[in-house]
Amino acid sequence: MKSLEPKINRLNSTTKEMFTHLPNLVPVVIIFLLVFCLSALLNFYHTQIAVKKDGNASIAELENYIESIAYELHELSPYISYHCNDSDKLGLRSYVFNSDMLKEAGVYYQGVVTCTSNEGKANIPLYPPLLSRLANTSNKVTISLSQSKSGFTAFFIYASTGERSGLNALLPPSDFLETVIPKLQERRYGYSFKVLSEHIYSDNIYNGNNRLKEPKSILYFSSQRYPLSLTLYINNESYLFYFVQHIWQTILIACVLSVFYLLIRYQMLAKRSIEFSLINAIKHDRIEMYLQPIVDITTERVVGSEALLRWNHPSQGQISPDIFIPLAEKLGVIGDVTKQTFSTLTQFLHANPTYTENHYISVNLSRNSIIDASFIRYLYDYADSHPDIVGSILLEVTENIDFSQVELDSALDNLKLLKQLGFQIAIDDFGTGYSGLNFIRLHSFHVMKIDRVFIKSLHSESTITPVLVSMIHLANELKMKVIAEGVETPQQIAQLRKLGVRYIQGFYYSHPIKPDAFLAYSGQTKKEKSSKCLST
Ligand code: C2E
Ligand code: MG
Ligand code: MG
Repeated sequence: MKSLEPKINRLNSTTKEMFTHLPNLVPVVIIFLLVFCLSALLNFYHTQIAVKKDGNASIAELENYIESIAYELHELSPYISYHCNDSDKLGLRSYVFNSDMLKEAGVYYQGVVTCTSNEGKANIPLYPPLLSRLANTSNKVTISLSQSKSGFTAFFIYASTGERSGLNALLPPSDFLETVIPKLQERRYGYSFKVLSEHIYSDNIYNGNNRLKEPKSILYFSSQRYPLSLTLYINNESYLFYFVQHIWQTILIACVLSVFYLLIRYQMLAKRSIEFSLINAIKHDRIEMYLQPIVDITTERVVGSEALLRWNHPSQGQISPDIFIPLAEKLGVIGDVTKQTFSTLTQFLHANPTYTENHYISVNLSRNSIIDASFIRYLYDYADSHPDIVGSILLEVTENIDFSQVELDSALDNLKLLKQLGFQIAIDDFGTGYSGLNFIRLHSFHVMKIDRVFIKSLHSESTITPVLVSMIHLANELKMKVIAEGVETPQQIAQLRKLGVRYIQGFYYSHPIKPDAFLAYSGQTKKEKSSKCLST
């Protein structure tokens, strides 16, 4: 039972997560609904066009059928005479016997049917309008209706072979129409066929006079060659038939549009994402360099500054370097960020050549950069091309670096090289790393920057921690200068003074400020500085 619990919890959290993503699907559902509505509207026109095509095709098919029978009658005519001999009867009967649909065939002469396959000799006069229709058609073929003795409607095809003479064939209307009806039924049309002005066949729903259902629209088709016409009734089922026929296209379009929408949305989200904005900001030089003064408390003079970056995000406002620096490291662009800092500080130092006479400027290096051969190459070239500046630059590396042995060896080699190039090297945030006090012994650093966590609680003598004392002893032993970070109060200054710490960085003197403000600040007198820091 207990082993089931984690599984149930996992299932619950997965379900919850699924529900939180559901609102994202609303636009996709709307896309599907819109495409289906549009498709239903278009289906109205598609159906009308399809019905027109089907109506014309049905008429053409029936015409072809009439003509194929007429052709057979023409083929038969040389072997059948109007005299109605045994051979004539036999000829007519075997023709009917071999046909699937024909029920009777006959011969007419001088406007009178003289012989039929069923009854033999006959004397049935043909209606004059039929004869004149036959005479007026170009292919000498026509159709007609007549009532049989048993009351059934018979459908005739006439093929003239001479003056008022020829052959005819009789078939039930339903058999004649069988060639087209299944297709009309499949498409759910109502239909009604007329020969001359008589209905010969209708479906059950719209059976000519007795209309059981109101159709949505009605279309008429008639043959140009024969007195044959077709009425098609379009109803909801017909529309539904075409809608279902094209439903795969509708789904495909909705899917394509949804994928398109999701791609655009994803791109917009990506654009709005902090990663995208950061890369953009780096590309367009939108990360600013601020300087925080470092003050010698024995003289109260500014001796240097630390370059600290500030990113003013267009929509999210100021973003802390504690957030965007690790992000830049993760995205592999921290080298570019630091190179930009170098180019900004180089411009600043060139614009203020006296700065380097009595100030240094420190730059933070990421752990990735210390073991990045191309970045070290950049610093090598920088030192080469700026020999006047390099001695005033203090590179800060944190102690908090979890290197493998190989990386550590490479980092130490690189630090050695940087020192040889003329850079000064500081160990930053000292005391917070997990290398204990070992890392500091592996390289001879110029400066130790004590992290602000050790300064924070420094109110009075009783709050001085043994760790702080031993860090300062270690720095003295290794002949390193000490800078205390995060100094905010006069009490902290007083305690640090007692401990022999000379260099201070902290809000007590100044927050990180823009380079112009820094120049104004570092030019101030001691008195002005104290009154300013008291006001912040
Ligand atoms: P960090 O190098 O230790 O910089 C000192 C941080 O302490 C700065 O924070 C500074 O504003 C803050 N600070 C200074 N005085 C006081 C104080 O009196 N009280 C308090 N509470 N804080 C004080 P910031 O500017 O937010 O930078 C944070 C960290 O981001 C830096 O720590 C550094 O590790 C990193 N960083 C900043 N700029 C760069 C850069 O260009 N490259 C790299 N790799 N890291 C940078
Ligand atoms: Mg630093
Ligand atoms: Mg620090």
